[in-house]
Amino acid sequence: MYQLNEKIKDLKPYDPIQGSYRVRLDANESFLPLPQALVEEAKAAVERTAFNRYPDPAARELCQAFAACYGVQPQQVVAGNGSDELITVLFEAFLEKGDAFATVEPDFSMYAFNGHLHEARHVAIPKGKDLRLDVEAVAAACQREQVKLLIFSNPCNPTSLVCGREVMRKLIDSLPDTLVVLDEAYMDFSDQSLLGEVEDHPNLLVLRTCSKAFGMAALRLGFAVCGKTLAGALRAVKSPYNVNSLSQAVGTAVLRRKGELDRALETILRSRDQLYAGLRELGEKYPGRFRLLPGETNFAALEMENGPELLGYLARQGVAIRYTGGLVRITCGAPEENKIVLEEMAGYFAQPERM
Ligand SMILES: *Cc1c(COP(=O)(O)O)cnc(C)c1O
Repeated sequence: MYQLNEKIKDLKPYDPIQGSYRVRLDANESFLPLPQALVEEAKAAVERTAFNRYPDPAARELCQAFAACYGVQPQQVVAGNGSDELITVLFEAFLEKGDAFATVEPDFSMYAFNGHLHEARHVAIPKGKDLRLDVEAVAAACQREQVKLLIFSNPCNPTSLVCGREVMRKLIDSLPDTLVVLDEAYMDFSDQSLLGEVEDHPNLLVLRTCSKAFGMAALRLGFAVCGKTLAGALRAVKSPYNVNSLSQAVGTAVLRRKGELDRALETILRSRDQLYAGLRELGEKYPGRFRLLPGETNFAALEMENGPELLGYLARQGVAIRYTGGLVRITCGAPEENKIVLEEMAGYFAQPERM
């Protein structure tokens, strides 16, 4: 009788929160629909698409549009079917049998998941004081364990904390034999990107995505930015038609309208300020119930006891948030959504504490 193998037999599909909620602040998506001008551009791009033909394997126009948008060179850019796909390809191709990879926990769960599927040895390094990256501890563990691939998010999901450029440069340069994969999925909301420095660090690969700040999670567009040698290798190992023609066309059109994207980003940043201000107020009213981390993303991370209980309470009020890596994570929503989650949280904290 056919038996599923050990490594897959107990796996469960990735399961974002299901069901109907009046407010969805669980997946760090943008709350803004694509601006109408961009929807028109997207429609025109669809009209031009040759549906009977395979897509451009190099996604040239898309990579050029991304490069122009971020001020990097097109040869340094490789497009993926979401950064998720690129993470998978990195684990497949840049690790050999028996190699070790490292994560800094808590972090994005897909890293460890991919390592598991590729049967790589996992070195899980804990975060340091106040959930910040302890760069010395990370470097020491990677050297000791001969780690071939170190992957982490900056700013970090779920802590929302960002690590400064100078410290990152030191870490990358102290590990010349390790591929350092820096997942900057949330860097549009912060200002410590190393995108412009990939040629200075031959072991650095930066991941970016259109799913968060740019509000295009549905298209599945992610990018790897790295020196030309790494970029060439990545192009050679990815599946040839990984980004479909529609996503290439729409993504190109949208990335060419940087002004519109910047305006959307400003709106999200205002919503973040509003959510954080409301949470700080709540913290003053109910001291000791939670600690708001000083984040630089499009979500708020709270350290608190009984996080899952708050999650359950809010779910019953029709509000979806997430509990991950031991933290409560609330995506910045539209002003009225932020207001609702803050009101419902106040309702939760106002309950008499049950012992
Ligand atoms: C959301 C997220 C991604 C996924 O990006 P896609 O491009 O949608 O696959 C990658 N990394 C981190 C840390 C994320 O939070």
